[in-house]
Amino acid sequence: MTELRGVGIGLGVAQGPVARMAEPSPAPDDAPSTLSPDEEIARVREAVAAVARELEARGAAAGGLAREVLEAQAMMAEDPSLDAEVETRVNAGKTGEFAVYAAFASFRDTLAAMGGYLGERAADLDDVAQRVIARLRGLPAPGVPDPGHPFVLVAKDLAPADTALLDLDKVLALITTDGGPTSHTAILAREKSIVAIVGAAAAKDLVDGETVIVDAAKGVVTTSPTAEELAQAQHRADARAAAASAPLTPGALKDGTAVPLLANLGKPGGAAEAVELGAEGVGLFRTEFLFLSATNAPTVEEQTKAYTELLQAFPGKKVVVRALDAGADKPLAFLNDAHEDNPALGLRGLRALRASEDILREQLTALANADAASDADLWVMAPMVANVEETTYFVELAKEYGIKTAGVMVEIPSAALMAQKVLAIADFASIGTNDLTQYTMAADRLLGSVASFQDPWHPAVLQLIKATADGGKANGKPVGICGEAAADPLLAVVLVGIGATSLSMAPTALADVRASLLQHDLDDARRIAEAALAADDAASARAAAQAAAQNAA
Ligand code: PEP
Ligand code: MG
Repeated sequence: MTELRGVGIGLGVAQGPVARMAEPSPAPDDAPSTLSPDEEIARVREAVAAVARELEARGAAAGGLAREVLEAQAMMAEDPSLDAEVETRVNAGKTGEFAVYAAFASFRDTLAAMGGYLGERAADLDDVAQRVIARLRGLPAPGVPDPGHPFVLVAKDLAPADTALLDLDKVLALITTDGGPTSHTAILAREKSIVAIVGAAAAKDLVDGETVIVDAAKGVVTTSPTAEELAQAQHRADARAAAASAPLTPGALKDGTAVPLLANLGKPGGAAEAVELGAEGVGLFRTEFLFLSATNAPTVEEQTKAYTELLQAFPGKKVVVRALDAGADKPLAFLNDAHEDNPALGLRGLRALRASEDILREQLTALANADAASDADLWVMAPMVANVEETTYFVELAKEYGIKTAGVMVEIPSAALMAQKVLAIADFASIGTNDLTQYTMAADRLLGSVASFQDPWHPAVLQLIKATADGGKANGKPVGICGEAAADPLLAVVLVGIGATSLSMAPTALADVRASLLQHDLDDARRIAEAALAADDAASARAAAQAAAQNAA
């Protein structure tokens, strides 16, 4: 038995045989063909037809949106003008592989130049070309494999389109060698409740067919497991399935201490699922997600409509809306128009809003309008607040618009260190552990090569969370958590032990966190938190919390 380490997403555990995602094949050489043009053309046509039929078959099996996407790809493969382009190149002495590569590439460039919807299809054409070339070479098709039985998918990373098309009856778990806990793969895996470990570099050596256990709670992949280990993993998977079907009680520790469990949302349309999964309100509504493709600032009317729809889905419940958080990985054309070498350290979040104060004023107007049109309890917070002065600025401005509860996100270490003073002014704080970890560890949250630093279990991050929670306590103000850390079931217990008063997460994480909180009373949670805080690094904090939790249970 050997263990490979990575970053686990959620609490899941699964086991099964590995199927690797084929690496994209290298571009073919421009060597002269040894076959006649007729032979080359026949090979290409056979390969194109086979690829088109396979895409159609996959689409028919998947149904819905996937069917439309794959049928469109099949049509592209058999486009007569592409066939003519290939023929011209083959007649000039090129191999079938090279002719396909060059013809598809020229079409791709034409499509990409058109921009918009057609431009976005360029990547689909690349995928078709890769499939045809792989078939001509007698290699497996790139993309998600289909070994004909359920499997553990191992990949470098997944394109969002691959993740969207994953058949959850077949993919038992997902392991990627790249990517961090806040990569798209991780976010989508969490959203779809796929057992996943990302950033497990050593998984590159796993081979097709070998049985592995994927333990996301520990971030460990076990190869060559013993029968006993397989049985234990099954037992845990069964217990987790039981948690998923447990009653949707309000979040609480074993002794009844209330820990409201809230949802992170990016669209009002996500509200229904959140309510269904037992969210007691919204802890983070990411308003920038509504406007990522907008070139101009949204109007007050557009915003009022979106916020009203959100608030009306939560009558009588708390809904925390974040003012536009633009910049770095989420640039908005109308707020971040200047080039910056280090956008994560630039004019982002509240800084960008302040530089375009009209936009912030319009957003506050829309939020006040939506508040008046609903019975929800609206809280509004500013993103990326660095200091006391920015806190005062935002809280005063929000109150000017009649916002009753105005707070700040604590994502920058300086705000955590100044929490006593920040929370003397703000009505509440919400800790964004994704950015707080990024800035504490100086590790880009999107960069696979530094993913091991991007771990909110690090005691330095936990100390800053404690400083913030203590600042809240001293001022009698709530301090919630809304970064991905709140979705880690054991870390959720630690966060409550440190003093967090609510937890907000992707709705699909609610069941695991609810079940985990119910296993510990407040004294246990505090002891588990102390064990983590006293550790030297993230891995030992996790291990110390696991040991303390086992002793407590
Ligand atoms: C965070 O930084 O933890 C957070 C919740 O905000 P976002 O992930 O949107 O940056
Ligand atoms: Mg953030």
